[in-house]
Amino acid sequence: MRLILLGPPGAGKGTQAQRLVDKFGIPQLSTGDMLRAAVAAKTPVGLQAKELMDAGKLVSDDIVVGIVNERTNEADASKGFILDGFPRTVPQARALDEMLAKKHLKLDAVVELKVDESKLVNRIIKRAEEAKAAGQPVRKDDDPDVFKTRLAAYHEQTAPLSGYYASKGSLRTVDGMMSMDDVTSALVAVLQA
Ligand code: AMP
Repeated sequence: MRLILLGPPGAGKGTQAQRLVDKFGIPQLSTGDMLRAAVAAKTPVGLQAKELMDAGKLVSDDIVVGIVNERTNEADASKGFILDGFPRTVPQARALDEMLAKKHLKLDAVVELKVDESKLVNRIIKRAEEAKAAGQPVRKDDDPDVFKTRLAAYHEQTAPLSGYYASKGSLRTVDGMMSMDDVTSALVAVLQA
């Protein structure tokens, strides 16, 4: 199964993707995680991405398309994958379509987590507090001010993807404000339908 999870930052894409990994046995491909690993390893991509990520802005399409192209060629992605945080712009979605067509593959589903945006900043604050309490590093972009920039980037650059996939007939939606377990059940039901 090849799946895209769409939704604003803090919608629960990462949490739900991890649960779907267990359920379907396919990897979660999170461009945010891949970029954070590149930043930590100080690779050329990481050095280019760091400032933009810390500011809550999007990294260039070329960079993320390149890393997704490489990652989807790895053996564990041969049976499918869950894209979390990619695509985030219409050019990225077009590049993904081309990438899959070249590999003779197709997307099975695009699911958007619908959330009440007024609740998102509190989720992000909670995520930062939980990370701190667990002794884990707190993401620089999980700061309420940076979060505003991330949400603005979502509205300007990512939200148009709903229309892009709706026009292809592949968009499904799930209420992301339910409990985590209920969101997972709804996602599984949508994917098995
Ligand atoms: P995330 O972990 O998905 O919230 O992503 C964290 C940050 O990584 C974003 O705010 C962007 O700076 C960058 N990023 C992740 N995925 C993408 C993408 N598909 N396109 C551009 N930038 C991305």
